[in-house]
Amino acid sequence: MKVVIDRGSCVSCGTCWETCPDLFEQDPDDSFSRIREPYRSDGDIATGIPHASLDTCAQEAADLCPVQVIGITPS
Ligand code: SF4
Repeated sequence: MKVVIDRGSCVSCGTCWETCPDLFEQDPDDSFSRIREPYRSDGDIATGIPHASLDTCAQEAADLCPVQVIGITPS
């Protein structure tokens, strides 16, 4: 799957990095969510291609995001 965070609309609630900490983390520079380094697509902090073992928690995080800014598509 491919995961895209609309970082400009993130409200830094922490749900995604608490739900799926191997994939999401808080960016110390702007406080918004970003993709952890190993899963970034072409180094883009907003776009990730996670390992299949993270599919379930990535989907869970997307479902739980209060502003629905985590998009998931098949890769
Ligand atoms: S769950 Fe959504 S609003 Fe909350 S930190 Fe993650 S991307 Fe941002």
